[in-house]
Amino acid sequence: MPSVAARLKQVEASLPEGVKLVAVSKFHPVEALREAYDAGQRLFGESRVQELITKQPQMPDDVKWHFIGHLQTNKVRQLIGCRVALIESVDSDRLLRLIDAEAERAGVVQRVLLEVHVAQEETKFGFSPDELLEWMRSRRFETLKATHICGLMGMASNTDDEARIKADFKAIAEVYRTVRDDESLGLRGFDILSMGMSDDRDIAISEGSNMVRVGTAIFGAREY
Ligand SMILES: *Cc1c(COP(=O)(O)O)cnc(C)c1O
Repeated sequence: MPSVAARLKQVEASLPEGVKLVAVSKFHPVEALREAYDAGQRLFGESRVQELITKQPQMPDDVKWHFIGHLQTNKVRQLIGCRVALIESVDSDRLLRLIDAEAERAGVVQRVLLEVHVAQEETKFGFSPDELLEWMRSRRFETLKATHICGLMGMASNTDDEARIKADFKAIAEVYRTVRDDESLGLRGFDILSMGMSDDRDIAISEGSNMVRVGTAIFGAREY
């Protein structure tokens, strides 16, 4: 099997300019992360707070960590405490309020993405497109004190049906552009559209993604 470094290079080479790569290292040992780091990767994504907290001190300081999993409200304080560059998976107003309160308490500005839910699966978290637009237009973001909403994150349905995947990404991208281009909202620095994983990243990019979250194609299959 090719090395982590070789696979990382291959994935990097496949990305158009302007698309950022988050190496999703969840369930993989720190040795694998180091291999990617030594090959130049600095952006890593984890989906469990405890795992991130365990790995962070074992990696160099210039690693940027993204949190991409469902964040339980009772773990918010721990996560803010370890200075995550971006929480990509803010899936409710309540979670956002908690993050804001903890960030203010810690004296930091937390960068986040709001998660848009369009996939068929009932179990996926996030704002529906209508909820998100309505949340934005209600201007509730204006009351945030220590949180910067940098864009949106989303996932396509878990299916082999490429037309369905494309339609899902298109729907997420449309919400993103509607919010970004709505000057009346006066948002600044709203410019990240995170969508696409190992198997569907090309479709996501063709629909306008500028951040992909790739695990398996870099690190191999996960052992849960
Ligand atoms: C695990 C995960 C990924 C990476 O998935 P791969 O198929 O291994 O590339 C991307 N995004 C999220 C939110 C994930 O939980």
